[in-house]
Amino acid sequence: MDATFITEKELKKMDPVFGQLSFNDHEQVVFCNDKDTGLKAIIGIHNTVMGPALGGTRMFNYASEWDALNDVLRLSRGMTFKSAITGLNIGGGKAVIIGDAKTQKTPELMRRFGEFVHSLSGKYITAEDVGMETSDMDLVRDVTPYVTGISESRGGAGNPSPVTAYGVYMGMKAAAKSQFGSDNLAGKKVVVQGIGHVGEALVDYLTKEEAIVTIADINYERLNAVGAKYGAQIFTGSDLFTTDMDIYAPCAMGATINNDTVYKINAKVIAGAANNQLAEENIHGAILQERGITYAPDFLINAGGIINVYAELAKYDKNEIMSRTENIYNTTLEILDFAAQNGITTHQAALNVAQKRIDQRKLENSK
Ligand code: NAD
Repeated sequence: MDATFITEKELKKMDPVFGQLSFNDHEQVVFCNDKDTGLKAIIGIHNTVMGPALGGTRMFNYASEWDALNDVLRLSRGMTFKSAITGLNIGGGKAVIIGDAKTQKTPELMRRFGEFVHSLSGKYITAEDVGMETSDMDLVRDVTPYVTGISESRGGAGNPSPVTAYGVYMGMKAAAKSQFGSDNLAGKKVVVQGIGHVGEALVDYLTKEEAIVTIADINYERLNAVGAKYGAQIFTGSDLFTTDMDIYAPCAMGATINNDTVYKINAKVIAGAANNQLAEENIHGAILQERGITYAPDFLINAGGIINVYAELAKYDKNEIMSRTENIYNTTLEILDFAAQNGITTHQAALNVAQKRIDQRKLENSK
């Protein structure tokens, strides 16, 4: 979960929506409540200048409704910039369902959620995120066409994670080129934190290129299985961040680059799949820059998944999906150059370029 640096008490004193720290000019926030199915959901529509707001639905057992609201606001804003930097004609949105995906998710709840999505008439299009499966999106599809990430048998583009991993791999190679002068990862020491759907597929690419891969996860069964399958080393030390490495790939949860870790990270490149890796984007991005660490912006290099779901709307075939994802390599190089030329952080550079595209489109739309 993304860290916040204000207490619950302070948070409660603030205005609940427009006053949230994470509220950033969102166009619309929709609260969905259904007593019969127990559905409590929030849909955040950040920006629709580039097109309808597309972004996944996360189901999570949030500690409080405030946490859920904060999460959906941060995530939906992230989607606006992710899609704009990737050149997709869609805006940014995201939804959260409050509850335990293992025990509280029912077909009735998913269909009811789909009805709320439908009530927005296509302004928000949903997809999978944490706590969701393709089969859940199929249930949403029963009641609304405004859903992507459905199964291939129903016209969907299938599992986005391997595509996300390919984009992260491309972004990592570009960042390596910028930092080390070559994008060849053979012999580079890479630590992959989180070897779930995306992390494992990334380990596959890295070991094929003969990088020296160390993996870390809280799921020991998976850790042993993935370690054995790819011949990756398993992290056994006490502090992952001080491990001897060239590249750190955060592929578990967000905010791992924070006050506790930012001065310790013993890598020259950071490139991973997790969303919102910088706990405080301005502060921690600037510290990485000062330390000479090349940070490949998360929302830029983990865009393979959104390219994959967008493909359902744009009718891309597999080749088009992969070639657009491969282009993350070029975009990352451009953003890293832009940051260096302008003396700004790589995260800020990516935001600036994305915002410029949105402003340009807004101008065109108004003509
Ligand atoms: P996943 O749930 O399949 O895998 C996450 C893995 O991280 C799990 O194996 C889990 O045990 C591990 N983990 C959790 N906490 C950890 C910790 N503290 N230390 C080490 N390991 C830990 O998720 P995923 O689909 O592989 O996604 C990984 C990240 O990438 C997430 O942050 C997700 O939001 C982001 N992302 C995923 C996609 C996608 O297409 N799946 C797209 C964009 C961004």
